[in-house]
Amino acid sequence: MKKIAVLPGDGIGKEVTEEAVKVLKKVVENSQEEFEIEQAPVGGTAYDLTGTPLPEATLNLAKESDAVLLGAVGGLKWESLDYSVRPERALLGLRKELNLYCNLRPAKVFPALASASSLKEEIISGTDIMVVRELVGGIYFGEPKGVDTLPDGTQKGYNTLVYTTPEIERIAHSAFQTARLRDKRVVSVDKANVLECTELWRNVVIKVHKEHYSDIELSHMYVDNAAMQLVRSPKQFDVIVTTNMFGDILSDIASMLTGSIGMLPSASLCGTKGMYEPVHGSAPDIAGQNKANPIATILSVAMMLKYSFAMEKEAEAIEKAVEGVLNDGLRTIDIASGSSQETLGTVEMGEEILKRL
Ligand code: NAD
Repeated sequence: MKKIAVLPGDGIGKEVTEEAVKVLKKVVENSQEEFEIEQAPVGGTAYDLTGTPLPEATLNLAKESDAVLLGAVGGLKWESLDYSVRPERALLGLRKELNLYCNLRPAKVFPALASASSLKEEIISGTDIMVVRELVGGIYFGEPKGVDTLPDGTQKGYNTLVYTTPEIERIAHSAFQTARLRDKRVVSVDKANVLECTELWRNVVIKVHKEHYSDIELSHMYVDNAAMQLVRSPKQFDVIVTTNMFGDILSDIASMLTGSIGMLPSASLCGTKGMYEPVHGSAPDIAGQNKANPIATILSVAMMLKYSFAMEKEAEAIEKAVEGVLNDGLRTIDIASGSSQETLGTVEMGEEILKRL
């Protein structure tokens, strides 16, 4: 028996999750494995119910599940709350408590949407990149950090870039294993010419590769060059593995190759246990209007099946169904080509994808 926690959250999180759960139920209904799906509140919705954005019962459910599907959290209603109980705290809490050190952000250009990118179609068509970002270490967490005032009144701000060998080894394993499910090529991105810490990063990645992954092609790139290559010639990449901060920046660049934020799924993993969520937020401007694109969340379900349950065929079936609706010209408002194009609502888009499964 496999257990999946569904945490819809706030705003459009609720709407897109509802469609994604229908897709999930449909693809697992004939599976050998039994799935139990349980829902719990998170974010502002949970705050309203319990006074905290991540209630203990929700955290416990996430901990005892094999995978978590999360919608989105946040909204105007909760913006004046103290930081400690803001909806977004729930995300940090879940990442930390589940030790989700490996963030996977795919950037795949669907042929039918190639013209939606800000880059030329011939540059981006065929792009299919997976950015593997270390998520719980590096300069965002390193100590010491802070802003001090010196005796002469000058202020000094500082953060520390720290990685230990085990932290680099585990993310390197994640990247090579991810590449095995794809085109078997990894580019490790660092700044080894300037930062000692990332010189260690490079050496450890080389060692892990040499000892365990002779079937995977490994190369290295400095982060400044990687940023340039992503917009110059993105097709050259398969898997990119990098540190927390470099990954933060590069995954945003990579995602924008594809057009709309409503299309982008993500996974945060610790081994095969993972939290899957769309990249977008709760979109208060369109919440409750049946306008949100559910595809990012539906593709997050595909990632869950692939990375937590090794159900690649089912994951592919979802991806094909999404490609099908796009090829048939069906669009939600965020990916429509102009104001004259007729668009589908969240529920209708969900139904069209279900029909094609
Ligand atoms: P957002 O991603 O919610 O919205 C940005 C823009 O993209 C909006 O115009 C929105 O309408 C549009 N958009 C987003 N998702 C869409 C979808 N699926 N279909 C169609 N259009 C879509 O970002 P924001 O406006 O900066 O933040 C809104 C709230 O969400 C804030 O409270 C923020 O803190 C929160 N947030 C949460 C997460 C998360 O839960 N992971 C991530 C980012 C922001």
